[in-house]
Amino acid sequence: MELLSPIDTIKGVGEKTTKLFNKLGVYTIEDILLFFPRTYLIYPNPSKPDKDSVGSLISVEGRLKTAPKVYRSRNHLDILSATIYQENTSVDLVWFNSNYLKNSFEPGKVYIFYGRLQEDNGHFKMSQPLMFTPEKYMQLKEQIMPIYHLTKGLSNNLVLKCTKEAFEHCRLDDNRLPDEIEKKNAFMPYSQALKTYHFPDSFDDLVKARKRLAYEEMFFFILNSRLQENNIASAPNNFSITHHKETDDFTNLLPFSLTGAQLKVLEEIKLDLSGEYVTQRLIQGDVGSGKTIVAFLAMLDVALSGYQSAIMAPTEVLAKQHYKTFCEWIELSGLDIPVALFTGSMKASEKKSMQRLVDENDNCIIIGTHALISEGREFYKLGLVITDEQHRFGVQQRDKLSSKGNNPHIIVMSATPIPRTLAMILYGNMHVSAIKELPANRLPIKTCVIKESMRNTAYKFVSDEITKGHQVYIICPLVEASETTEAQNVTDYSKKLDEYFKGKYKIGMLHGKMKPAEKNQVMDAFANHETDILVSTTVVEVGVNVPNATVMMIENANRFGLAALHQLRGRVGRGEAQSYCILMNSSSADRESERLNIMLKSNDGFYIAKEDLKLRGPGDMFGVRQSGEFSFRVADIYQDSDELELASADVDALLKKDPDLELNPKLRSTLNSFLADQFYVL
Ligand code: ADP
Ligand code: MG
Repeated sequence: MELLSPIDTIKGVGEKTTKLFNKLGVYTIEDILLFFPRTYLIYPNPSKPDKDSVGSLISVEGRLKTAPKVYRSRNHLDILSATIYQENTSVDLVWFNSNYLKNSFEPGKVYIFYGRLQEDNGHFKMSQPLMFTPEKYMQLKEQIMPIYHLTKGLSNNLVLKCTKEAFEHCRLDDNRLPDEIEKKNAFMPYSQALKTYHFPDSFDDLVKARKRLAYEEMFFFILNSRLQENNIASAPNNFSITHHKETDDFTNLLPFSLTGAQLKVLEEIKLDLSGEYVTQRLIQGDVGSGKTIVAFLAMLDVALSGYQSAIMAPTEVLAKQHYKTFCEWIELSGLDIPVALFTGSMKASEKKSMQRLVDENDNCIIIGTHALISEGREFYKLGLVITDEQHRFGVQQRDKLSSKGNNPHIIVMSATPIPRTLAMILYGNMHVSAIKELPANRLPIKTCVIKESMRNTAYKFVSDEITKGHQVYIICPLVEASETTEAQNVTDYSKKLDEYFKGKYKIGMLHGKMKPAEKNQVMDAFANHETDILVSTTVVEVGVNVPNATVMMIENANRFGLAALHQLRGRVGRGEAQSYCILMNSSSADRESERLNIMLKSNDGFYIAKEDLKLRGPGDMFGVRQSGEFSFRVADIYQDSDELELASADVDALLKKDPDLELNPKLRSTLNSFLADQFYVL
């Protein structure tokens, strides 16, 4: 079995299983070895079900008095139900579409069930619990269980078995890094780290394995960017872009004046664009700091100098929003500058007419999603490219956009808060600008954490804000009802909410499974205040700007990472009115309230992400990514910031001795294979 053999070389993996693995992006043996657990589980000691453990994952030992029953629910699910007894307490168990389990039970016997304890009309309940014999359970309790991302039809057990099999038959090469680096750092060897990351004997081992893998990922990432920078950094500036009076005139027409921080960044960009070399600049500014207008003003100078510029956004919703804003700004300016838009969902005829606009106008301002870099599109007069919400793109995508022109200037914008030192390492030779100041008219967002018992009060508040003419976001974790979790879903929630408010308010619904055109429609309706409430999954997280929205209510807030909550909170507080963030905590665990309370203490995204990690339990720590930045498989820039600095120093030392890796041909090929299977989340 070779690393690149297809997964059906594993015994027992047939056509059906192969398809399911493919769905998860797993095609080869190597893919399966790198398909890391999402989290880990240690089965707890069986406990007595009581009110305090409602909402938590527990194990209950109990006797089954009668055989389980099978029936069909109103929405056509096959339901298997049983009741277990422990002294004078009982727990009702239900499974969906799992009738085959029926024969695994023997009435009168004792079993152990693992699942989330719920309470329904005074009865304890568990849905979809895992079932074990006491002997089997005691055996499992000794182990740390890897939990994988799954897809319908593919069980955790099957992934686990296949991974074990792959490790058994596949030989891994431990010589990946130069000897002196291996020696100096004394990490766990690669093959051992890989295996330990799937099947750890202890959390200590897991931490060691993680260190190695995180270090390695960052090492290759930094090595690659340093090697590329050497080519770009010294490219001469082929353009003559200057600052124009018309840009200042337009600025004076805006309904607001620019903040000091915005002006400072604009000064820096002016110098960049007229400098001797092409520029690469990172603009970091927390959510709502006003990065869009800065991008626009830079693009305006480029257009007035007779060149094209392009801005790439990670989602259709955001690209369309930029297009609308930019068109309005151009109209306000009274200048004759065309604006073009490219998104994946546009009709071929629309794309064609946009392309004509670009071809015929050397001063065109271009906006788009990654549709900009696909489909063989070419832009010949590109003087500046900007990526918005940089962290949603891979480095290679950014480079692809700039390769559409002849060494254009590059600006990337990001709201992911990282300290300057980390930014310098990750973005290499890029100059870093920070917009630290929020526009003066902003009031700090008021945040509260509430429990289910306060739902009516929260809805009353929502209703009052709508009466004042404002709008409300409500975020749910799921798109539709799930058999395995109790979390709120957008589909049912919208209906329930409409019933609650008796149809008084217009409610929009948005989620990632909708077609781009539908999403655009829903978002437009909200932006134009045709709807009052937008019930959505986290798809609104990125960049969306509706200043009239003043309430962000997040259901099952305990299920989200705090960095994500911080980004969501940033969708409000974008206008002059006081804004609010309501976090609904559906967990009864103290640890969860403590974690959510961090959101009350700070508005600093970096602090929030770090504190979140400190409070997580060991099993929780793994697989938690506070930012999608660079889409590392294992590494997280917050959690592994020490390894990041170490890797950076090691790369620098190595390149000083061997700038083109001529002395390390093996390292060059390992780097290439690393880059080949790096994946990007879009
Ligand atoms: P982000 O930095 O998160 O991308 P945006 O660029 O979307 O933020 O700006 C958020 C809102 O603030 C927009 O409505 C924008 O027009 C407005 N805005 C930008 N700069 C200022 C300013 N100096 N004063 C007041 N409002 C501003
Ligand atoms: Mg933005």
